Amino acid sequence: MAQIIDGKKISSQIKEELKEKVSVMKQEGKTICLAVIQVGDDPASSVYVGNKKKACAYIGIESLSYELPADTTQEKLLALIAELNGRDDVNGILVQLPVPAHIDENAVIRAIDPGKDVDGFHPQNVGALCIGQRGFVSCTPAGIIQLLKRSGIEIAGKECVVIGRSNIVGKPMALLLLRENGTVTVTHSKTKDLREVTRRADILIAAVGKPGMITREYVKEGAVVIDVGIHRNENNKLCGDVDYDDVAPVCSAITPVPGGVGPMTIAMLMLNLVESAALVR
Ligand code: NAD
Repeated sequence: MAQIIDGKKISSQIKEELKEKVSVMKQEGKTICLAVIQVGDDPASSVYVGNKKKACAYIGIESLSYELPADTTQEKLLALIAELNGRDDVNGILVQLPVPAHIDENAVIRAIDPGKDVDGFHPQNVGALCIGQRGFVSCTPAGIIQLLKRSGIEIAGKECVVIGRSNIVGKPMALLLLRENGTVTVTHSKTKDLREVTRRADILIAAVGKPGMITREYVKEGAVVIDVGIHRNENNKLCGDVDYDDVAPVCSAITPVPGGVGPMTIAMLMLNLVESAALVR
């Protein structure tokens, strides 16, 4: 029977630890504040933003909310970011992506002070991760490292295969696994014979964005399988990139969808915030 890696439980543990830490920081007179900016009213983005604000409130972190209309100009958005960069009472700035098409996403990411870039998307933070220096790390892959460590899964010396090379998941995931001394292979849409590569993995991370694509043919017996994908199937039920029922019987540990990687992303955002606040003051 595969070990089911319980992201809900592990993320709750992290949030409880942070709640305690924040309460101590408050007693020392340190407050933490996250500014969340949403441009437009995309329903999925509104849910994500709402969940982030809820997590802040639970842990004892203040949040400032900026809900801007969809036709907000890039100049206006950049001016707001500049204002928040300059505010001493704001520790973290988050612009919910995607932004409307008339706004250059890269310009927005670059405008955020790297010291407040709690999403870890700024090139300076990505570069710091690449050369093993301190900086904010993209929350989803950072959460996966926590899932592995807190489930007692050793990374050092293991064959790790990442499916997907996006800037938000695949690439930082590969760099984090490397930092943990894994032997890392990154695969992508142009990889030849994907199955041959993924079947080498002791730890397989699926961030391919295709529902149920990873069946047991892609998985070595006894591997650890981490499913980053989030989709709705034909019955409107949440599912991942991994065909869970097919793969679970052949692997040693697996994350479910929902309740695996998903809940970790917000927990790591909170961790990033608390760590930055603890560092600067
Ligand atoms: P993306 O679309 O940016 O990247 C997908 C990657 O998969 C690309 O690098 C592409 O080269 C690769 N790919 C596509 N088809 C392939 C194939 N046939 N074989 C091998 N590689 C292939 O997606 P993303 O932003 O990295 O997200 C991946 C998935 O994770 C999505 O389902 C997304 O919704 C989900 N996601 C979940 C969380 C979370 O909090 N759980 C966070 C971010 C993304």
